[in-house]
Amino acid sequence: MQLSDKIKHTIRDVHDYPKPGIIFKDITPVLSDPVLMHEIAGQLKQDFQGQKLDAIAAVEARGFIFGSILAHELGCRFIPIRKAGKLPYKVRRKEYDLEYGTACIEVHEDAIQSGWRVLVQDDLLATGGTAGAAAALIESFGATVAGFSFIINLSFLPGYSLLKERFGVDPHFLTEY
Ligand code: AMP
Repeated sequence: MQLSDKIKHTIRDVHDYPKPGIIFKDITPVLSDPVLMHEIAGQLKQDFQGQKLDAIAAVEARGFIFGSILAHELGCRFIPIRKAGKLPYKVRRKEYDLEYGTACIEVHEDAIQSGWRVLVQDDLLATGGTAGAAAALIESFGATVAGFSFIINLSFLPGYSLLKERFGVDPHFLTEY
């Protein structure tokens, strides 16, 4: 079976979470399968090695899991981007729109340097709001968004084309719905 199908078969759909009408893609069964996780790590390494990357940035919480695996595989820095109020040192922040209201993410002021090429990793691409805000935060340091990497792309939502248009790179993903 292809890796894409293995991931799909392992993900659990949780209906009406966190609110009615949403089908939540629960990746915890993937995390509890060490053979599949090993294969995912190997695939991500293969897909990104050879690209000049200075850092992998990821948004908490599930982005941290795959982002730190990829950073380890490629031997490059990991930059945590967190929800407001979680990072201990001086931060730079970015507000972005949610379906209802706004959210705010932060990164340490000394985490990114001008001229770096940074890849954004998350578990899932939906509207693109989260990854787009992370990318805008990265660009605000004078760094380049070298790419986006997701385990899952929800292709019926506009995230893929939004990120491609705004940042000029094709988001990478391992499986899609
Ligand atoms: P978005 O900003 O709309 O692209 O949403 C992406 C973020 O929200 C990711 O960090 C995902 O973990 C989470 N997310 C959005 N929709 C879902 C979903 N249907 N299932 C699981 N996680 C989701």
